[in-house]
Amino acid sequence: FLEVKGIEKSFGTVKVLKKIDFSLEKGEVIAIIGPSGSGKTTLLRCLNFLERPDKGSIIVNNEVIFDAMDPSTQRESEVRKKRLHFGLVFQNFNLFPQYTVLKNVTLAAELLAKERPDYKQNKKAILKEIQDRGKMLLSQVGLSDKLDCYPHMISGGQQQRVAIARALALDPDILCFDEPTSALDPELTGEVLKVIKGLAERNTTMIIVTHEMDFARDVANRVIFMDAGVIVEQGSPQEVFGNPKEERTRQFLARYK
Ligand code: ATP
Repeated sequence: FLEVKGIEKSFGTVKVLKKIDFSLEKGEVIAIIGPSGSGKTTLLRCLNFLERPDKGSIIVNNEVIFDAMDPSTQRESEVRKKRLHFGLVFQNFNLFPQYTVLKNVTLAAELLAKERPDYKQNKKAILKEIQDRGKMLLSQVGLSDKLDCYPHMISGGQQQRVAIARALALDPDILCFDEPTSALDPELTGEVLKVIKGLAERNTTMIIVTHEMDFARDVANRVIFMDAGVIVEQGSPQEVFGNPKEERTRQFLARYK
């Protein structure tokens, strides 16, 4: 479903990603773990077209959406559309402070709808559909009573749940999380992890960068351990956590014991 082949990325002379290869089946959850600076965020940013890899290719559903060797896959006009394959939830929520919770979730879909040829004739019905979907997603993350609140009026955990609903609003093929709970107080972490676990149970395809090892073990089908820009080891949670093959993985995991 997703194939990442030979992705490399440097910033100046620093090679941050070195030949990253992995694949992901539809409905599968991959957890990416690894020390700070190992390139996890950069990898997610490459998948989401926020960074341009120097080498390699990205294939979704048999469509080559990026190939470093093929400029025709990199046209700005198409990148926007291709980005829709991925939803991204950031560490720091990144909600729009000036918009209500509901508007945060519906805004992108509303802007996109304006490009529909039937928008003018069906505006009312289209906007109603988007609103209804936004409300449904916010109910899925347990926030039906916060639709009209502004981000500053709700907790960090609630803000992150809005961010999850927002990422789901455009119905991405793959939902990516970059350390979704690391900016949260410990007592708010559980509610966000519970929402993500609920998505996994509904077979949402996800890539989750996380420092929550118990959570990774619990929800992931596969775990990737990255260090210094390479995938050191990947396998089932039982393999990577229970019986790591590589010394570097063992050393990293020992810190979480
Ligand atoms: P963390 O867990 O701390 O978020 P990470 O594994 O996500 O770490 P990255 O954020 O991908 O790691 O960073 C990998 C390396 O790339 C780091 O050394 C970082 O300083 C460097 N880096 C990231 N973005 C840039 C940039 N835009 N310009 C220069 N260097 C960068």
